[in-house]
Amino acid sequence: MDVEEFRKFAKAAVDYVADYLENIRERPVLPSVEPGYLQELIPKEAPKKPEKWQDILTDMERVIMPGITHWQSPHFHAYFPAANSYPAIVGEILNTGISCLGFNWATSPACTELEVIMMDWLAKLLDLPKHFLASSGGSGGGVLQGSASESTLVALLAARENTVKNVRQKHPEMDAGAIKAKLVAYSSDQSNSSIEKAGVLGSVIMRLLPSDEKCRLRGTTLEQAIRNDREKGLIPFYVVANLGTTGTCAFDRLDELGPICKREGLWMHVDAAYAGRDKETALVPMDSYAQNRPEVLRDGAAFICPEYRHLMAGVQFADSFCFNPHKWLLVNFECSAMWVKDSNVLVEAFDVDRIYLRYKNQGLAPDYRHWQISLSRRFRSLKMWLVLRLYGAQGLQNYIRQQVALAREFEALVRADDRFHVVTEVVLGLVCFRLKGPDELTRRLHERLMVRKKIYVIAATLHDKYIIRFVVCSRMTESRDIHFAWEEIRSQAEIIFASNNV
Ligand code: PLP
Repeated sequence: MDVEEFRKFAKAAVDYVADYLENIRERPVLPSVEPGYLQELIPKEAPKKPEKWQDILTDMERVIMPGITHWQSPHFHAYFPAANSYPAIVGEILNTGISCLGFNWATSPACTELEVIMMDWLAKLLDLPKHFLASSGGSGGGVLQGSASESTLVALLAARENTVKNVRQKHPEMDAGAIKAKLVAYSSDQSNSSIEKAGVLGSVIMRLLPSDEKCRLRGTTLEQAIRNDREKGLIPFYVVANLGTTGTCAFDRLDELGPICKREGLWMHVDAAYAGRDKETALVPMDSYAQNRPEVLRDGAAFICPEYRHLMAGVQFADSFCFNPHKWLLVNFECSAMWVKDSNVLVEAFDVDRIYLRYKNQGLAPDYRHWQISLSRRFRSLKMWLVLRLYGAQGLQNYIRQQVALAREFEALVRADDRFHVVTEVVLGLVCFRLKGPDELTRRLHERLMVRKKIYVIAATLHDKYIIRFVVCSRMTESRDIHFAWEEIRSQAEIIFASNNV
C-alpha cells in the first residue's frame, strides 16, 4: 500500500467509524451469533496475493459486526463504561501513526514529558494530594498503565520488594524467599477480580476481608486481620482499598484504613477505577435507604467536579492511587492513571540495567520502564492531551453531571413503580435494582432481557439477593434511551408478574 492508497483507505475508515457511531442506536446492542460463527465467514488460511482494501471495509459489516457487542450503544448498560470520544480516537490515530516506544526518555522525549505533565494536569483536576504531583518537587508522580489490573499488580510488586528489603535490614539472616512466603495482602470481599488476581500473580496471600452491611471494608476488620496474621508469624504488607466497587459502587472507609496502614507500615493502594466516594453518600442498608437518603444525593458526584472534591476523605494516606480515564473520562481504552507517592520504590524494585538502555542525561526525567511491567510502552498521554484540551475541565465536568443525571432519571422511574426496589444508594452512574419478592422473579426478568437483546444489563448479588445492575455507559445515551430501557424492563416485568398471577 502506497501513501496515496493509505490516505484513501484511512479516510474511508474514519468515515466508516463516524457512520458507525452516529447510527449505533439502530444496531442491536448484543450480537446473535454462536461460538465459532467466524470460522464459516473467513478462509482457513491467509491470502496468497494482496487483496483490495475496499473489500476489507465491506467485510467489516459481513464478518466483524455480527460478532460485536456494541459497548458504545446507548442501550449498553452493563459493567462500567468503555470510554470513547472523537478527540481520543484522533489521539489514537496520531499515536499509531507516530508509533514510538517511550520506555525511557531518550527513546521519545515527548512521550515521557507529555505523560508527566498530563498526569499532573489530571491529578490537579481530581485534587489529589500534592505528593502525587511530579511538579511538587518530591519523588511522587503519575504514570499511564494499560489497566487498573496492572496498576494494582505493579503497586503490589513494588510493596513486596520494599517489604523484603526492610525486613532483611532487621533480619539479615532471612532470605528473600522465606520473607515472601510470609507476606499477606488485604482487600474487601467486594473488590474487583483483578485484586485477587494480583495476589496470584504476585505469589502472595490475598485475604478478601468481609465488608460491612454497606459493602465497605472497615478499619476494625482490617486491624483484626493484621493482628491475627502477625500472631501466626506472617507479614502483612499491602492493602487495596476500593472507591467504587464493581458490584454496587461501594466505598471502603479510607479514613479508617489509611491511619492503620500508616501505623502498621502497610502500603495502601486505592482502586478507584470507576468512581469517587462521599462519606455522606456511602451505601446504606437496603431497607433503610428511603428514610436515610441524604440531601447531597440530589447533585452529581465525581472527583473532577469541584463541589465533590471532599469525596476522597482519607486519600492522603494512599501510597498509590489508580483511576481509569478509559472508563468514564472519555479517553479510549487503554488508559489507566496511576500515581505513586514515592517513585523511588518502583525504580528500586524494577530497575534492571543494560548498556543499551543507558543514555546521556539519564536521571533527569522518569524512565517509565521502571514503573510498569513491560519494557515498551505506547504514547497514551497523546489522546489524553487531546481530550483535556478539546473538552476542557468544564466540558468533562458537564459530561459527568449529565451521565449522573441520566442515572438519577432511571432511578426515579424504578422508584415510581412499587413492584421494584432500588437496593443501593445511587452514586454516579450505577443503579442496582430488583423485583420485590423471591429472587426467582429478578432472575427471570434478567433472563428475558438477555434473550430479547434490546438492552444489555448484567446481574449481581447483594447480601445473597439477586440484583440487576443498570449503568449509564455510552456517551450517546440520552433521556429517550433511559425511557426506552425502563419501558423494556417494565414491560418484561409485567409479563413475569402476569404469568405468576402476582
Ligand atoms: N477495579 C474496579 C473497581 C473495576 O470495576 C474494574 C473493572 O471494571 C477493575 C478494577 C479492572 O479494571 P481494568 O479492566 O482496567 O483492569
